Amino acid sequence: MEDDRTFQRRRLRLVEMLREKGIQDERVLAAIATVPRHLFVEPALRARAYEDVALPIGMKQTISQPFTVAYQTQLLEVQPGDRVLEIGTGSGYQAAVLCVLGARVFTIERHRMLLERAVERLEALGFRVTARHGDGSLGWPAFAPFDGIVVTAGAAHVPKALCEQLRLPEAARPGGRLVIPVGDARHQVMMRVRRTGFDSFATETLHSFRFVPLISEKDRGLEPQLPSED
Ligand code: SAH
Repeated sequence: MEDDRTFQRRRLRLVEMLREKGIQDERVLAAIATVPRHLFVEPALRARAYEDVALPIGMKQTISQPFTVAYQTQLLEVQPGDRVLEIGTGSGYQAAVLCVLGARVFTIERHRMLLERAVERLEALGFRVTARHGDGSLGWPAFAPFDGIVVTAGAAHVPKALCEQLRLPEAARPGGRLVIPVGDARHQVMMRVRRTGFDSFATETLHSFRFVPLISEKDRGLEPQLPSED
């Protein structure tokens, strides 16, 4: 039976692996070194919790691969005190990483059972988040604007409602960032949309990933800007 020290050792090895794979933000790596990922998966999967793989969490959903969590979190550029909205609570692991970075975390999940389990787990570990059950593709206007929005399921397009809930840039503060995987069911590219003005957004298209789908009923999207073939 693995003890806490064994898990801690494995967690530090995982951090080194993420560093080798190109994650450079030391605050993100420190957060991953802190959060006990083995407590976010079923007991039967704990021994695999520090492999760099996605693992099943029930309802045909997965806890994202650690590299993906690190990559998305790095792109969010979270500062302590930032308001960050997560779409797709899943196990609650990504939310915990955001808490460690000092964010005020809001999170939405469409599977009630997953949400309840995640909230219970986060509370037991002392992480405070504001959570709700529902379709997150429309964001959470009551708590907007956000400094960061992270979508942890693959979307067919960039939901316009999410862009509109990003904070406007101010003198000493950059505009809000939306980090979202966009594509079809088999393949997505990570996109970062940064708010640069009332009606202006800067979009970057980054690496390829594979996520479980974002299931949304109501949103209307912006057209995805996919990378050119060259
Ligand atoms: N961030 C999670 C990863 C969860 S996988 C973690 O750290 O464990 C993606 C999650 O998005 C799934 O739980 C899925 O149910 C949820 N999801 C998919 N579409 C959604 C939507 N429109 N609104 C809210 N949650 C959604």
